This record gives sequence, C-alpha cells and structure tokens, in this order.
Amino acid sequence: MSQPPPGSANPLPLRDRVKLPRQHMPEQPSELRILNFGEVNLGYGPELAQQEAQRCLECAKPTCMDNCPVGVKVKEFVQHILVGDFSGAAAIIRQDNVLPAITGRVCPQEDHCEAGCKLHKKGESLGIGYLERFVADYEQRLGIRHVPTVAATGKKVAIVGSGPAGLSAAGDLVQKGHQVRVFEALHELGGVLVYGIPEFRLPKGIIREQIDYMRAMGVEFETDVVVGRTITIDELMHEEGFDAIFIATGAGSPQFLGIPGEHLNGVYSANEFLTRINLMHAYEFPAYDQPMLDLHGKDVAVIGGGNTALDTIRSALRLGARKAYVLYRRSETEMPARVEEVKHARQEGIEFHMLTAPVEFLPDEKGWLGAVRCQRMELGEPDASGRRRPQPIAGSEFEVPLSVAVIAVGTSANPVVQSTTPGLNTDKRGYISADSVTQRTSRRGVFAGGDIVTGSATVILAMGAGRRAAKSIHEYLIDGGWGG
Ligand code: FAD
Repeated sequence: MSQPPPGSANPLPLRDRVKLPRQHMPEQPSELRILNFGEVNLGYGPELAQQEAQRCLECAKPTCMDNCPVGVKVKEFVQHILVGDFSGAAAIIRQDNVLPAITGRVCPQEDHCEAGCKLHKKGESLGIGYLERFVADYEQRLGIRHVPTVAATGKKVAIVGSGPAGLSAAGDLVQKGHQVRVFEALHELGGVLVYGIPEFRLPKGIIREQIDYMRAMGVEFETDVVVGRTITIDELMHEEGFDAIFIATGAGSPQFLGIPGEHLNGVYSANEFLTRINLMHAYEFPAYDQPMLDLHGKDVAVIGGGNTALDTIRSALRLGARKAYVLYRRSETEMPARVEEVKHARQEGIEFHMLTAPVEFLPDEKGWLGAVRCQRMELGEPDASGRRRPQPIAGSEFEVPLSVAVIAVGTSANPVVQSTTPGLNTDKRGYISADSVTQRTSRRGVFAGGDIVTGSATVILAMGAGRRAAKSIHEYLIDGGWGG
C-alpha cells in the first residue's frame, strides 16, 4: 500500500494520500448569502480539484463506481483531472451521466459513490461530487460539447416529463440513434430541478445549459403539453407514431397534515411555495415583485425534515423572514435531508425544533394564520421505514406565533396519465407498476421510471431508472423484445 499503483500518474505513495485532508468547498459566507439567492457552494478551481484528485487511492476494484446508480467511472475521470485533462474527465462522466453539473450539485454522494470510497473508512471520502461539479462547470464555461454522431434508427420515442428520469433516458436514447421527443406539462423544462430546488443550490442557468446540451445532441422538447389531457398515451402511439413511451411524470402532488386550520391563508404546501419562488421569479427580487412572498418581519415555519423542508425555510429566510423554524416530529438522526443542507441551514440561523408536531393552525383576528399549536413527541419502536416512530407526550402542547406555515411532509403521484391509459397497472397508492430492472409496465411498449414508480426519491435514483428504461426501450425497438 505504499507505492502508487502501476500506470498511475499520481506521484504520491498511497500512505501519503490517506493523510491528505479533503479539500474544503469554498462557499458564500452565511451572513451574506441569507441576503441573496446566489449559489452557496462556489465550486473548486483547477488547483483545488487537482489537489483533491491526488487523494484518490485508485482502487483495483472501485466500489465508488459500484455504488453509483448510473455507474459513473469515478476512478477514470479522477485520473484525467490529476493530469489536467478536464475535458477528457467530462467526456468520461458523460458516457454514463448526461447531467453532471446537476448531480455534481444535488446528488447525495454521501449515500452512493462517497459511501463506497475506501477513504471513507479511514476518515473523509474523496470529494467525488465536488470533482464532478468542477469538470462539468469547466466544460460548460468553455462551451465544450461532446456530441457523438450516430446512425439514425428511424424509431421514435416519446418521453413524458422532463425531470431527471426523463432527461437521463432521453440522453441515452438519442445516443443510440432514436428520435426522441420530451413532452413537459409546465412551461419550463427540468421537473423538480427547476420548480423545486432553489437557485442557491442549483442555478436555473445550469439546468438550461444542460438541456441545451441535450438539444445539441438531438433531443426535441415540447412544453405546455399535459399528457393525459392535451394528448393521451394511446394517441401518442397510434396517431403520432411513437414506437415506445417512457413515463417519467414524478410525484408532484402535495400531501397535507389533515389538521384543523390547514385551510387558513398563510398555510402553503411546499410545492406551491417553492413553485411560486422558482417559476414566478420571487427569487429575482426586486426585479420581480411577488407581494405574497414578501416575508419581511414575518415568522415562518416549515413542517418536515427533508430536502424540500430545508429548501423551503432557507428560501423564506432569503425572502426576509424574521424568524425561520423547522418543526420536525422525529430527531435529527432521522431527518432525510442531506447533511450538508442541515449544516448550511444551521449556519444561516434557521431554528430547528425537533420532536415537535403541529396539531392545529390557529387564526389571527383577521382570519389569517396567527399561530400553530404543537405537541412534543418522543421516539418509540422503529416503524415500517426503519426509523423510530414518534409518539405524542400527553399534556405537552404549546403555541408558536406564526404568519406563514409551509407543509413539506411528502408528495404523492399525480393520477392524470394513469387514469387516461387503459391497461396501465398501478399500485395501491396510485404509482405506476414497473419492473425494477427493465422499467416495463403492463402496457406493451410503455415504460415508466423515477418518482412516478418509486414515490419521492432522489435525482440520481430517477436518473438510474431513466438509464435502465433507455436500455430496455432500445432492446425493444431493435431486437423486437416484448417490452410490456
Ligand atoms: P420530476 O423531477 O418530478 O419530474 C417530473 C416531470 O414530469 C415534471 O416536470 C412534471 O411537470 C412533468 N409531468 C407530470 N405530469 C405530466 C404530464 N401528465 N404530462 C407531461 N409532463 C408531466 N433529490 C436529490 O437527489 N437531491 C436533492 O438535493 C433533492 N432536493 C429536492 C428538493 C425539493 C424541493 C424536492 C421537491 C425534491 C428534491 N429531491 C432531491 C428529489 C428529486 O428532485 C426527485 O426525486 C427527482 O426530481 C425525481 O425525478 P423524476 O424525473 O422522477 O420526476
């Protein structure tokens, strides 16, 4: 373990690499960033990236790659960074991942590649996400595009939904020579990436550029088309001549708590709140005026503990909230949000109230939200999710004055495609039933993947489903597989 592996360009012996600290991600100072929607993480420059790349142990069996749902060849791309071939590194990532500037920012690497990194056991894993982001931004800044030329197959594929599952499938299918058209219900492309995740974590310009890259590869996009209303799956197949369809419509319907007072003005779903900020440009204040979202002097709480909850409350802070609370019914250990997001939220002054569940929203004298009544919780035995179940503590109720409450306790499937597609099987909760390897549905030639199959998950898992679907669709179109 003391010499670099044969053929390695890394001059450091392995024992020295283990001793190198992980390079810190430069970020906007918290006291400044709470006043704007600019990106929090500022990205590595070439020097930091190469220093971080030196830490790679270049394992003979790289478990980082095995842990990546889309199979990015981590060791290979890091070796290219090491020798300063950043464009080559980008080309390697792009063989498996058509959205590297996005996953480099929001993928929970700590649960995937970085969890598989051998350095993880010895201290801090390699900053794989930071390195991925660096090369993706590098190629974007220089306008480098790797657009392979492929022979057209003459086959047409429709993709329903432009979130990460749909985009990933589209990217793979177009590179196999199929004609690919993505239909999107909204006027903006990107799914949750654009209407959910705020600018300070994932700038819209980055998403647009990644989509333009896909256009350059030949993917066609049509916005403002609600499949199931504007046109049905059957019409796409039988009248528009699509040979296969991939449904990637996500899980965008908000869930509520079902407690008294939830109808009051001032209570929002996270879905509505974030969509107003992201698609109605509230984040571009003062250029855009969204009076409903002027939160100056207001106390705001979010209910929930996932990424959505933290995106909501950190956005509220930037829109002027005087106090910003997270109310979560379990403890920090059970919070599904990324560790980095919790750290950033704490630095920004968000107050976390753990083991706290709202039981009623109370009106003020004008009939708007004035306060929330909460109950303290304690943790019991694990529930079906494997997390310890919160149980109310009798007599522990208390009130918190509040002008705005945002509910971020999960989402469910929008039924519009399922209800207009005869023979398309769903599970009890309304999600589309699809094979977990081939992404085939009960309808011949119709495939599905991402949140519309699994329920709300992550960007990289949705992209993994998109890749699997693209592979099966290709086999179906070329080899005449059954496909349904
Ligand atoms: P979506 O991204 O939901 O895309 C589905 C698309 O289909 C949408 O654009 C929708 O408008 C469109 N559509 C729906 N119905 C129709 C129809 N009938 N016709 C045409 N189009 C239709 N994951 C992470 O990994 N990291 C994070 O940091 C993270 N943060 C998140 C923050 C928020 C606020 C939210 C809400 C989620 C977050 N997630 C995160 C989860 C992640 O974004 C989702 O798991 C992922 O986007 C799912 O991808 P998808 O392609 O399946 O669906």
